[in-house]
Amino acid sequence: MRKLELHWKILIGMLLGLLFGFVMTYPDWGRDFVADWINPFGTIFVKLLKLIAIPLILASLIKGISDLKDISKFKKIGLRTIGIYVFTTIVAITIGLLLVNVLKPGDGISEDTINKLSTTYAGDSGVTSKLDEALKQRERGPLQFLEDMVPDNAIAAMSDNALMLQVIFFTIFLGISMLLIGEKKARPLKDFFDALNDVVLKMVDLIMLTAPYAVFALLANVVSSSGDPDLLVALLKYSGVVVLGLFLMIVFYSFVVSMYTGKNPFWFLKEISPAQLLAFSTSSSAATLPVTMERVEEHIGVDKEVSSFVLPVGATINMDGTSLYQGVAAVFAMQVLWPEGLLFSNQIIIVLTALLASIGSAAVPGAGMVMLVIVLESIGFPPELYPIALALIFAVDRPLDMCRTVVNITGDATVSMVVAKSVGKLGKPHPKEWDDHLEEVI
Ligand code: ASP
Repeated sequence: MRKLELHWKILIGMLLGLLFGFVMTYPDWGRDFVADWINPFGTIFVKLLKLIAIPLILASLIKGISDLKDISKFKKIGLRTIGIYVFTTIVAITIGLLLVNVLKPGDGISEDTINKLSTTYAGDSGVTSKLDEALKQRERGPLQFLEDMVPDNAIAAMSDNALMLQVIFFTIFLGISMLLIGEKKARPLKDFFDALNDVVLKMVDLIMLTAPYAVFALLANVVSSSGDPDLLVALLKYSGVVVLGLFLMIVFYSFVVSMYTGKNPFWFLKEISPAQLLAFSTSSSAATLPVTMERVEEHIGVDKEVSSFVLPVGATINMDGTSLYQGVAAVFAMQVLWPEGLLFSNQIIIVLTALLASIGSAAVPGAGMVMLVIVLESIGFPPELYPIALALIFAVDRPLDMCRTVVNITGDATVSMVVAKSVGKLGKPHPKEWDDHLEEVI
């Protein structure tokens, strides 16, 4: 019998997890049971993925740079990557703003719903901690992000997944210096990182063997810990606008893939689907990164010279789904709470600040909502309404986070293909069957 492909296994795990989580909302002990006995397996899986993210970035970026024959190519790849990332993010925000202005999801929200949402969530620790985080972000100067990118301690940078950009900075510095001292001298170091790269990719394979079970645990927990279903229904139109926008982004990527690289977009989506399903289940581009890298390199055929730079940078700064969501959420909050703010000039400001806010959002669950406060602040949204604005969208934040993370990583994968094609580094896929590994392991 033909073995089931990985993405089908993950999908089945997700559906069973959804179902199980839903059933467990009924018995009194159900939610606690899921939190105590099921959720830890999902958490362990996410921890394992994060565990290998830094070694993978280090090894694969060093390999990518030291395989380069000349440094000027690296400059070309770098500039193109940043330029295309900014472009796709602006497309995403524009799509979001167009949809939210035309479909006006805020118009259907009654006073009653606003009251219910703010009494339920405005004082909730989820909302208050997000506000605190956002206010801390606000105190940062305009060039703070540049300062933050440069580590003063390489080991400390590697010890914190949130400092991924610092690790990338250090690694590029190291890789370029290796090129400069010449092939012969750098050989031992290069061999070491080559071997490390292969080992870490094997670790990705091994971790992925457990993915169908882990997504079961993750989704069961999301469903069984979700809030009042009536409030979710009240926010259906708003969620629908975000999801429609995200779907249009996937259409946009498919169009770009087909027009620019000449590849079949359905093939592209199928090949990266395991990464998309994990993004959906974990809500974290950072945790998904090892799998995105593996899929893009081995199954799409993007050369490591490109993917090793484009993908980790993308996971940290390119968040098209997040920026689209921030645009929609900001206008939705204005429609409901502050209609006098709905000016064209404010929408232009949102394009700029959502671009910066999505760059500044960490690649972890819920980060996009924290940075939303920065967007609200830039348009002069009354500060006393911040908690209510966040309370308004908090109930549906997790499901929307799951969807926007899928778009975030699909955007990174698309850009890696485009950049690879533009420098002649889009080759043939060289997949390895996951199931073969299973047999090796068992
Ligand atoms: N969870 C998103 C990510 O990791 C960020 C966000 O939108 O909250 O890509």
